[in-house]
Amino acid sequence: MDIRLFSPYFLGSYGENNHEFEDIFLEFFRDHVYWRRSFHPEDLPPISILEKQSSHYLETMAKTKQELHKLSAALKQSVPFSNPRYIGHMASDVLLPGMLGQFITALYNPNNVTEEAAPVTVKMELEVGNNLAAMFGYNLDPNNGSVAWGHLTSGGTVANYQSLWMFRSVKYYPLAVKRCGELADIDFIDGKGRSLHYMSTWDLMNLSIDEVIQVRVNCLNQLKAMGDDKYDELIQLLREQRIEHQGHIDFFEQHKELKQPVVLVPATAHYSWVKAMKILGIGSKNLWHVPTDEKMRLDPEALRLLLLKAKSENRTVLAVIGVLGTTEFGTVDPISDIVTLREEMIRDESLNYYIHIDAAWGGYLSSVFRNEENNLRSHDEVKAGFEHFPSAKVYDAFAALKDTDSITVDPHKLGYMPYGSGAFIARNKNMCGFVVQEAAYVFDKKNRFVEPEPKLNQLGQYIMEGSKPGAAAAASYVAQNVLPLNAEQFGKLPASTIRTTEVFYHKISELSDKLKGKATLITPMEPDTNLICLAINPAGNTSTRVLNDFTRKVFEHIKIEKTTPLFNKEFIGSYTSIFRKNIDDSVAQSLCSKLGLDSGSFVTDIEKAEYQDNALFVLRHTLMNPWLSDDKNGETYLDMYLTYLEETILRLIEQ
Ligand SMILES: *Cc1c(COP(=O)(O)O)cnc(C)c1O
Repeated sequence: MDIRLFSPYFLGSYGENNHEFEDIFLEFFRDHVYWRRSFHPEDLPPISILEKQSSHYLETMAKTKQELHKLSAALKQSVPFSNPRYIGHMASDVLLPGMLGQFITALYNPNNVTEEAAPVTVKMELEVGNNLAAMFGYNLDPNNGSVAWGHLTSGGTVANYQSLWMFRSVKYYPLAVKRCGELADIDFIDGKGRSLHYMSTWDLMNLSIDEVIQVRVNCLNQLKAMGDDKYDELIQLLREQRIEHQGHIDFFEQHKELKQPVVLVPATAHYSWVKAMKILGIGSKNLWHVPTDEKMRLDPEALRLLLLKAKSENRTVLAVIGVLGTTEFGTVDPISDIVTLREEMIRDESLNYYIHIDAAWGGYLSSVFRNEENNLRSHDEVKAGFEHFPSAKVYDAFAALKDTDSITVDPHKLGYMPYGSGAFIARNKNMCGFVVQEAAYVFDKKNRFVEPEPKLNQLGQYIMEGSKPGAAAAASYVAQNVLPLNAEQFGKLPASTIRTTEVFYHKISELSDKLKGKATLITPMEPDTNLICLAINPAGNTSTRVLNDFTRKVFEHIKIEKTTPLFNKEFIGSYTSIFRKNIDDSVAQSLCSKLGLDSGSFVTDIEKAEYQDNALFVLRHTLMNPWLSDDKNGETYLDMYLTYLEETILRLIEQ
């Protein structure tokens, strides 16, 4: 792939596109000022020309400028994400259309909490959500069943919170309806015509999202048919039976047969899941970690066992989370297995769980799987651009996204957008109705009936945040219009970085051969995406602790630290740890044998501190900068990095 294609996409690590950026920004800044002036131009400007001569005015302007100098000086210590020598965390240069879209929109300062405060950018946000939903294969055609919906958040963390917040709200709803029916002597029915009154708690807790939505539609219709006064009274009674009103303690007290719910995540899940359990009051002990296999992907067999354990303990499974691109290893969980296992669990165990995919990192790779008509490309079509990617498992995972319930994806990661921009995408927009929060000042007696369909322009009613930047929505909107999310356009960008990762993968084994007798280098697991880890062991060493100490010393050279000026760094990387407790014996055994370690030194519980360790310290590389394969300096950045790594390792061995 010719990386020159990407020249107009970014400001550039050297600021190569500075003039274009400046011209465009200046043009639209002036345009903004004209806009300000054209609203009641007959008014006299409140800031008078004379006032601008006052000493107070001049002093304040001088102070502002002085502070900006200080800020600008301080910012020189920032991390140079835009440079191909930065291969650490999930950051790179950001797309020029996104950055300009964000800056220009910030001048207008729209607030996407509601369309009233952002008549333009709320629509853009919903369209960005639709484009992301389409990229994942969710349906947007109202004639075709349930319709997806998505919106932006400050990041992946909040999008993850939102999934559990909504899932809980949906999951416990049927119990509230049943109880309301019992108190008011009304026979509420589900979508199959079954009376909720005669359904068991287990069955009510194991309906699908679409089934619960149908319960709500039926319930609202039944109440509506009872006339205005009765309606108001009963809708209130229903609200009072819900877990959101009762709080966990009273709700569980009322439903004595209910046990605490569980949420299942892979052992590799992002730490925001633990935070989510704490914040929602579900309790972090109810977050069950599913072991991973040798490729650091969720093990479906282990998941099955945990689901059966939950059933045997009469626990509701609120959600199973699959990760599409783990934060530490870039690995892709077998989403299709999570989906098929659900079918099986419904059939054999009457156990139904909601599926959320944490695709904060890997979500945008879906663009590589979509053609220009937004159809899923075949495995062969996708594979044609790569050597290994995507393996059958990875392909199936992307293809199965359409069968999940909701997805987190971060525009500010592989979407190459500025911070802070995450997104939450739901397969069925009517999930919103369960969390709706009407603000007092928008309440309108004319619209007294609660409708199952959300009024999405009132975004703030359905999300975790309130006021939020319309500028972030505009950024993604502009970028997606310049580079639509398919393989022919935006997809070329992540695709090129996956190619770079494949090259890196081979070069590591070449380097390992070259260093034979001095050090062993391995990639602990084949990369599923464009994130790749590297374990290094000095020849002859059998101790995990010694390996870790050595790799830490290597890492010192590519680590950002306060004591070394940033400009002295050749490259900047990151690290992670593979914990022994998260992998099974055979995986640990195989890692040790590849590295030449004594497996007795890689342990869950450390007894001999100087020899053993409970984790493998590895270098972690996020290869998202497209110019890593640029060779204008005679060799690519990737090659320069590998040479640097080789020299560093040799120097440390000789010490
Ligand atoms: C980055 C990441 C998150 C958190 O997203 P933020 O945007 O940092 O809040 C969650 N899950 C995964 C898999 C991630 O990679």
